[in-house]
Amino acid sequence: DRLIEQGIRHPDVLDVMAGEPRHLFVDEALAHRAYEDTALPIGFGQTLSQPLTVARMTELVVKAEPRRVLEVGTGSGYQTLILSRLVKELYSIERIYALHERASDRLWRLGAEVTLTVADGGEGWSTAAPFDVILLTACAQTLPEILLEQLSRDGVLIAPLEAPDGSQWLTQIKRIGNAFEKQRLEPVRFVPLLQGVVD
Ligand code: SAH
Repeated sequence: DRLIEQGIRHPDVLDVMAGEPRHLFVDEALAHRAYEDTALPIGFGQTLSQPLTVARMTELVVKAEPRRVLEVGTGSGYQTLILSRLVKELYSIERIYALHERASDRLWRLGAEVTLTVADGGEGWSTAAPFDVILLTACAQTLPEILLEQLSRDGVLIAPLEAPDGSQWLTQIKRIGNAFEKQRLEPVRFVPLLQGVVD
């Protein structure tokens, strides 16, 4: 109901988010706060986004009617779970091994269909490309060009991007042939996209 009040309209997104257990994606000590509209810590200085942000990003992904989707920043795996119920082929990359392990375990238990890996998602996933949608759940200061190259011909990249003044904007970049059309959507707050892998 809160998501509807906040402007989320897509019935499939609302259905999936109403039915899936967010409390399984945070520590037991925080589980009682899992259905508040707030971001929650998941360890290693990372956060699980607030439900409204997950819903908005999922709506953008679903509207693109993608076949193959790449998520950069598996984190807890919650956004991954929601996406897995709505897209045909899902790939997700996490750079912190311990977060990947936990997410992988949860997603397997919940029967989510997704291919996961540990890597620097700023490099994309060349062997699985092209993707109809690439979704970043961490904020890039400068957009990794490689990701744009891994979009299909009319693919969409959805990402929080940092402006020169330090503010973050949810941004949608559409590929139209070899041209790119950039659209700034709304202010957001995400942890930074970092380089390399943490074992
Ligand atoms: N979608 C996640 C949000 C986690 S926060 C969730 O629902 O829980 C963002 C995540 O992006 C963190 O786990 C962080 O480690 C990861 N990340 C940051 N930079 C990355 C990179 N270059 N490649 C892959 N993952 C990255």
